[in-house]
Amino acid sequence: MYDINSMKAEEFIDHDEIIETLDFADKNKNNRELIEQILDKAAPKKTGRGVECAGLSHREASVLLACDDPEIVDRIYALAKEIKEAFYGNRIVMFAPLYLSNYCVNQCVYCPYHLKNKEIPRKKLTQDEIRDEVIALQDMGHKRLAIECGEDPVNNPIEYVLDSIRTIYSVKHKNGAIRRVNVNIAATSVENFRKLKEAEIGTYILFQETYHKESYEKLHPAGPKHDYAYHTEAMDRAMEGGIDDVGLGVLFGLEMYRYEFAGILMHAEHLEAVHGVGPHTISVPRVKHASDIDPGVFDNGIDDDTFAKIIACIRIAVPYTGMIISTRESESCREKVLGLGISQISGGSRTSVGGYAGYSPTERPHDTEQFDVSDQRTLDEVVCWLMKTGYIPSFCTACYRAGRTGDRFMSLCKIGQILNCCHPNALMTLQEYLCDYAQPETKKLGEALIAKEINNVPNEKTRKIAMDYLKQIREGGKRDFRF
Ligand code: SAM
Repeated sequence: MYDINSMKAEEFIDHDEIIETLDFADKNKNNRELIEQILDKAAPKKTGRGVECAGLSHREASVLLACDDPEIVDRIYALAKEIKEAFYGNRIVMFAPLYLSNYCVNQCVYCPYHLKNKEIPRKKLTQDEIRDEVIALQDMGHKRLAIECGEDPVNNPIEYVLDSIRTIYSVKHKNGAIRRVNVNIAATSVENFRKLKEAEIGTYILFQETYHKESYEKLHPAGPKHDYAYHTEAMDRAMEGGIDDVGLGVLFGLEMYRYEFAGILMHAEHLEAVHGVGPHTISVPRVKHASDIDPGVFDNGIDDDTFAKIIACIRIAVPYTGMIISTRESESCREKVLGLGISQISGGSRTSVGGYAGYSPTERPHDTEQFDVSDQRTLDEVVCWLMKTGYIPSFCTACYRAGRTGDRFMSLCKIGQILNCCHPNALMTLQEYLCDYAQPETKKLGEALIAKEINNVPNEKTRKIAMDYLKQIREGGKRDFRF
């Protein structure tokens, strides 16, 4: 029985509720009156204090996703764009993955790190190697990392992950610093989540892969990840352990996308209902080719148009949740979805263990890669492209360092302080990047962009302070200002 407040996976992600939702969506996909009501409910509303959005339930959002009337689809895209601009503006936060170890005891059939894959060498970085990787990432300009690790209690125990986080935060190389470490490791215990919180992680990210229990069990035939309930209930344990920024995701291609879409929104609704805070981010990976993995064997691959529509509908349904797209996607695909709701992207990524240190920007080790990278540009190329495309690349990590985690980003939106806070923070961190790492063309474009965009900070006092900080970064060698 569906129960949003239940702590049991099969009750808050109730299969029958999803099937009924899909049926309801099919029956109503041409119900103009209902669709108008849904679009109206989701539209941003100006209040005395700022702009607010109501979001949508999984049922309402599923109706939008099912609708294929071209005029309505255009309106879905326009609304997603409007919401994106209201809360995220033209800022795009940058990050990179750091693979620590590909030892894994699971048998996920889509992942090259599965236990039975003898084609790949197994590698686990030492703390010295992690230091080298972090220096290489800092030299690119990164400030925010997502650490990735296979599940292996012997080779990758929680102590190893905690040591690695400490190492990453401790590296201070030239003007570089990693200021936020997000963690993408297997589902774990409340006690371990508490330890991760104490280690000052940013977001705990765990992809559900699929919400369809029966498929989940087939796709994870053995190993600890086989346990659907333990995996699905991980975010509740993370929150019990004090982590209030959690990142959801499904691996599109494994199951029917409409099922996953309803499932991920039900998961978000459950977290909000039980913990008072929804997910900080939603990621939208698609299955890619990798060693021993042929994405063609999965029947549920989605094309770029469907992918864009999913992103737009997620944006509308959960307006305060950030959305992440990785280098699994090509430049053209990323460009298409940036305007529809994506707020964070990775750049210059290596998906292999030890893929950064010792390699030139164009050299790419493939032996331990988790999946093929489609967008193979350097971070500087991505930064330059974002600016040419009309976006502000942001290396901001301020929110979590200022304690604005959990539902406090939503409060920032609701009181209309985004432009006085996120905007100058984005510009100041971009200024640091331009001073320390940018190529000449990027630097020239960036300086002009900052000079123009600083005028969009509405509060005069804040604008003046931000301009002074920018000058101190440029001329005084100062770093790490934030609002
Ligand atoms: N071991 C942890 C876990 O099980 O959640 C960490 C996750 S893994 C390093 C990161 C994510 O990569 C997985 O959750 C999965 O969704 C994704 N992934 C695995 N194989 C992939 C493939 N062939 N193509 C695209 N993404 C893949």
